[in-house]
Amino acid sequence: MGENPSSARTADVVVIGGGVIGCAIAFRLAQAHLKVVVLERGEPGGEASGAAAGMIAPQGEMVNFDAFFELCAASRDLYPSFVEEVEELSGESVGYRRDGILMVAADDQHSRELEEVSRSQTRQGLPLERLTAESVHERVPGLSPAVRWGLFVRGDHWVDNERLTRALAKAAERLGVAFRAHTAATRLHVAGGRVSSVETRSASGAANSPISAGHFILAAGCWSCELTAPLGMYLPVQPCRGQMIEFESPRELPLVVRAGHHYLVPRAPRRILVGTTAEYAGYQKEVTGEGLRSILEGAWRFAPLLKDLRFRRAWAGLRPDTADHLPVLGYGEVENLIFATGHFRNGILLAPVTARLISELLLTGSTSRSIEAYRPTRFKARPADDSTQGSTGLLGSSAATGESAGAMNGSRGKKT
Ligand SMILES: Cc1cc2nc3c(=O)[nH]c(=O)nc-3n(C[C@H](O)[C@H](O)[C@H](O)COP(=O)(O)OP(=O)(O)OC[C@H]3O[C@@H](n4cnc5c(N)ncnc54)[C@H](O)[C@@H]3O)c2cc1C
Repeated sequence: MGENPSSARTADVVVIGGGVIGCAIAFRLAQAHLKVVVLERGEPGGEASGAAAGMIAPQGEMVNFDAFFELCAASRDLYPSFVEEVEELSGESVGYRRDGILMVAADDQHSRELEEVSRSQTRQGLPLERLTAESVHERVPGLSPAVRWGLFVRGDHWVDNERLTRALAKAAERLGVAFRAHTAATRLHVAGGRVSSVETRSASGAANSPISAGHFILAAGCWSCELTAPLGMYLPVQPCRGQMIEFESPRELPLVVRAGHHYLVPRAPRRILVGTTAEYAGYQKEVTGEGLRSILEGAWRFAPLLKDLRFRRAWAGLRPDTADHLPVLGYGEVENLIFATGHFRNGILLAPVTARLISELLLTGSTSRSIEAYRPTRFKARPADDSTQGSTGLLGSSAATGESAGAMNGSRGKKT
């Protein structure tokens, strides 16, 4: 760490952002006996981490089998022990289910996509099972008769992300982490190439005394650039809105079912989440008619079982997307500021590995897996982009729902 982190400071580490990423990192650092403060503008888990679908599904998600896929798969493999620790320390169940994920084909396009998934994953030696229409309908009653076959991925899982983030915060708190909810970090003070302190403001608008610490971790999701832009750092993280619908169901959905970009996710007790959209509409969290229409139309094609279900609620969350859709991890130009942001569609999946790597980096100065590809300094500022820091549109500002957003986002995975 370069200096004794337990010297006379307000904290050893200040984590900015109490989403799943900030909470998971705080949890790991507290296990290493550091004095950690988490600053959260709202409630822990109140943004993307609470809005997500909770799929832990690198095989169901990824289309490229590169180092990023390996990072995602490594995080999936950490999940069982991660959940065990969090549940034990928090005393809360996080609804972690290991029943696999079913991808189905209800039209020619789905079928072509699934054939490609099947070919490429088989080539990679990844385990997956081809199911006939009969077998798909046996596993999940109520799917459309148009569903003609499917792929079952036993290794992919899902979790109740709201409960997970809450449990992480509780476990971290029990280990001594101080959560300052409704407290925004408003400014980082940098002197001599180091952050010396962070200014904060309470929800009431009152400014508090600055907090000094040995290290600062920026885990503020799609708002991360608000704190780096005043320091002249270029961090192309922007919000990508995802809308979700929740229904009550008389029967449990036995597992996650997805077709193309649309999916159904079981949520206890007897709820079904239906998602989603991928829209570049700035920091707007509205649920829109267009968003709901796009989700329902997509889901209807393979899951008419929704037609009699009682609507419960709908919401939107802002995924932290980056210019290359990869996370931002590690040190940038400032000596004691670590970035842990930009997890886009995979922050729930990536929480365990991110927490492990960031805590290793802070505690030992190195990581057990290379994070070079995710370094914060990899982005080259373009003059046209500067105006977008902290506002909208690094990739375009128009709203995009349904299939068109996939093209805007390049080919790094499906929508979650
Ligand atoms: C509809 C939808 C579905 C998704 N489905 C999945 C899925 O199935 N699987 C998956 O792996 N991922 C999924 N994701 C993505 C996942 O939700 C995100 O990648 C993840 O939640 C990012 O976590 P985070 O902690 O970085 O961000 P956030 O959860 O947004 O947390 C950042 C926190 O920082 C706080 N903050 C911001 N600025 C400040 C400040 N200045 N001071 C103090 N606090 C601040 C915010 O209030 C917020 O609570 C989905 C996302 C959406 C929207």
